[in-house]
Amino acid sequence: MPSQEPDVRNKNFKEVALGYTEEMAVNEAQRCLNCKNKPCVTGCPVNVRIPEFIAKVAEGDFAGAYEVITSTNSLPAVCGRVCPQETQCEGKCVRGIKGEPVAVGRLERFVADWHREHIGNDKVEKIPSNGKKAAVVGAGPAGLTAAGDLVNKGYEVTVFESLHKEGGVLVYGIPEFRLPKDIVAYEIDTLRKKGVTFYHNVVVGRSLDIQDLFDEGYDAVFVGTGAGLPKFMNIEGENLVGVYSANEYLTRINLMKGYLDEYDTPIKKHKQVAVVGGGNVAMDAARCAKRMGAEVHVIYRRGRDEMPARAEEIEHAEEEGIQFHLLNNPVRILGDENNYVSQIECIKMELGEPDASGRRRPVAIEGSEFTLDVDGVIMALGTSLNQLIVDTTEGLDENARGGIQIDEETGACTREGVFAGGDAVTGAATVIKAMGAGKLAAAHMDEYMQK
Ligand SMILES: Cc1cc2nc3c(=O)[nH]c(=O)nc-3n(C[C@H](O)[C@H](O)[C@H](O)COP(=O)(O)OP(=O)(O)OC[C@H]3O[C@@H](n4cnc5c(N)ncnc54)[C@H](O)[C@@H]3O)c2cc1C
Repeated sequence: MPSQEPDVRNKNFKEVALGYTEEMAVNEAQRCLNCKNKPCVTGCPVNVRIPEFIAKVAEGDFAGAYEVITSTNSLPAVCGRVCPQETQCEGKCVRGIKGEPVAVGRLERFVADWHREHIGNDKVEKIPSNGKKAAVVGAGPAGLTAAGDLVNKGYEVTVFESLHKEGGVLVYGIPEFRLPKDIVAYEIDTLRKKGVTFYHNVVVGRSLDIQDLFDEGYDAVFVGTGAGLPKFMNIEGENLVGVYSANEYLTRINLMKGYLDEYDTPIKKHKQVAVVGGGNVAMDAARCAKRMGAEVHVIYRRGRDEMPARAEEIEHAEEEGIQFHLLNNPVRILGDENNYVSQIECIKMELGEPDASGRRRPVAIEGSEFTLDVDGVIMALGTSLNQLIVDTTEGLDENARGGIQIDEETGACTREGVFAGGDAVTGAATVIKAMGAGKLAAAHMDEYMQK
């Protein structure tokens, strides 16, 4: 797929990948073998009927392809861009055994973009109400999917979101250059046209609680509040000025548009930034910091093979000039006389025996400490679950991961009428898994509300 040149794109926030032309899409679709047992579909958490939509693309029936995809996936333009297809649908593609798998994600993206540009959502109409009310807490992919499926069935759906904008990680975490925000806004606009009501700046558990929602007449509640609580290393210097959690840094850049001069979002244009971590979030933070003008150093305690980030994200980061310091771990952050970050001290590591995660455990090499001059440090070490909803809702149990306990078959929580799904249950996972959970719960909320 055509994309911006690395040396150009590392200075702007426009989308990196430029998308297929109609001709490219048809050619790629014609590579599909239309396998009888459809292994690609089993690799998709929302069971998109992949060979069927690809066959429509191959015939040039892009509108028909869109209908097939959206019968099971309400956010195709998003999934086509951010799903880890290499471990899902494309990972199961028979074409991939001896060569390149069919580019399912790129085709999905093409179809969704084509539909938005050529047909749009102007004709989408409000769906008549069946007289029952459902509340959704959190407007991330899990909540949006549940809201979409419920409104399609005629429920009056109201979404309560703590931020001033809907989208969850799609708007505050994933950067514009991977997922343009007008695409997310379009999907939300479609939900609004169907009749979903959104309330912003409502922290459920603070502004009101789950019981208040039942008292207001909602028949069932879906909780999709994500897992946005950042983790830190608890090392010396983490409270210096210029140390961020990746979520905070990304929120300032993405949600609060810190990269645009016309916004007065407080964000410093650092000269040298260290990003600590080796996952997708670290890659996003590093690539944002680069676009904000910094020299960027990714510090990761294991080796390249152990990095949890998608291979494509690591390659993009390397191409854009980000420097990787693998097998290194920060031990403290040093500051100047005004408490601004001035250096990060690291220690070299080597890999020992595998740990509980199955990956080889990094072991510090004594006496190998060194320092890097930096004026910003971004901690991208993962996130955990915020306990607010569990703590403020009687009868709602916690699972072993510290998330909300659900029945895996139905998404039902231990409190009657409450369902949950997405990162709030599993901890940090993927967009499509969150959507799958929203879908499952919506189906069972429907059953529950019809009893
Ligand atoms: C930087 C970053 C990059 C990522 N990149 C990818 C990627 O490329 N591909 C991929 O598949 N996955 C990616 N992920 C993971 C993916 O985004 C998440 O797994 C997914 O968004 C989870 O969806 P969710 O709806 O469960 O939660 P979220 O997206 O976290 O949405 C939860 C929503 O609930 C709101 N909320 C929280 N508490 C309350 C409350 N008490 N009251 C009201 N509202 C509340 C939050 O503000 C938020 O809007 C990434 C994650 C991050 C952080």
